[in-house]
Amino acid sequence: MTYDYHEPETVAEALALLALHGEDAHLVAGATAFTLLWRQGLLRPGHVIGLRRIAALGGITSTEGGLVIGATVTHRAIERAVEVGRYCPALTRTFASVATVRVRNQATLGGNLAHADPAQDPPPMLIALGAEVVATSAAGERTIPVDELFVDVFTTSLRADEILTAVRCPALAPGTRATYLKFLPRTADDYATVSVAATLRLADDGHVADVRVALGACGPTPVRARSVEAALRGARPDARHIADAAARVDADIAPFDDVRGSATYKRDMARVWTERALTELVS
Ligand SMILES: Cc1cc2nc3c(=O)[nH]c(=O)nc-3n(C[C@H](O)[C@H](O)[C@H](O)COP(=O)(O)OP(=O)(O)OC[C@H]3O[C@@H](n4cnc5c(N)ncnc54)[C@H](O)[C@@H]3O)c2cc1C
Repeated sequence: MTYDYHEPETVAEALALLALHGEDAHLVAGATAFTLLWRQGLLRPGHVIGLRRIAALGGITSTEGGLVIGATVTHRAIERAVEVGRYCPALTRTFASVATVRVRNQATLGGNLAHADPAQDPPPMLIALGAEVVATSAAGERTIPVDELFVDVFTTSLRADEILTAVRCPALAPGTRATYLKFLPRTADDYATVSVAATLRLADDGHVADVRVALGACGPTPVRARSVEAALRGARPDARHIADAAARVDADIAPFDDVRGSATYKRDMARVWTERALTELVS
C-alpha cells in the first residue's frame, strides 16, 4: 500500500489539503506514532500531509511570564530550550523523560497530544500547568484546555478539519512550584506505569493557595485529581494531611490492567507517587 505525501509550507495550504482529501487524508509530524499504526495496517490514508515544513509551527516563544510552543517543535528541542527551563524546570524534565533521545529527536509536541496515548508524559504536566492548545481550521482558531482535549484512548476533541498549531502555557503565579514524577519499574525508556504532575503555591501564612494535580497511565485519558486538590486547597499541609489527600486519588482514577501492572497495583502506586509529588512540593 502506498500514499501520496504532501509537504505544505503554510497552515492554510495544509488546511486546503485536508479539505480536498477529507477522510482519505492524515496529518503527520514526526511520524513516530503514525509509522507504527501504518505498518500494522491500522491506518490506510491515500494522502499524508506532513507538517514539518510549516515554519510557523516550529518555534518556542516566551510571552509575559508564559510560553507558546509550536506544534512541530520536537521533544528534544523543548527539553533543551533555555526558555522552557526558565519557565518551569519540571517541564524540561517531563520532556527529557520521554522514551529515548532518538524518539525525542523526531516526536513533536502536537503529535504527542493528538496521538492521545494515556500513558504519555507531557499531558499530565501540561494539565497541571493549566496549558491550552490552539486548534486551527478554515473557520479560524479556538483554544482547548489540555484538561479537556482528551476524550478516550487515542481520541481527542480535535475535529477532523483542525490542526493543532500551538500549546500555550500561562504565566505561573510567583512562588508556584512544579514537579513531574514518572514511575518506571521496568526500563528507563519505558512508558510510565503511573505518572504524577503537580503544581502548588503556598500563601505567606503556609496555607495552600493553589494546587493542581494530574496523573498519566491511570485511565483511558490523563486525569486531573480534583479530589486530591480539594483536600489540600486552603489547608496547612503537614505529612499526615498530604497522605490523607493523596489517598483520595483513588476516586479520580480508573486504571486498567496492562503489561505495566494490574489496575490494583496502579491504584496503590498512584497514591504513593501522588504523596511523593506533594511532599516534594511542600518541603
Ligand atoms: C519507541 C517509542 C517509545 C515511546 N515512549 C514514550 C514515552 O515514554 N513517553 C511519551 O510521552 N511518549 C512516548 N512515545 C510516544 C511518542 O511521544 C509519540 O509517538 C509522539 O509524541 C508522536 O509525535 P509525532 O510527531 O511523531 O506524531 P505523528 O506520529 O506524526 O502523529 C501522531 C498522530 O497525531 C496526529 N498529529 C500530529 N501532529 C498533529 C497536529 N499538529 N495537529 C493535529 N494532529 C496531529 C497525526 O495525524 C497522528 O494521528 C513513544 C513512541 C515510540 C515510538
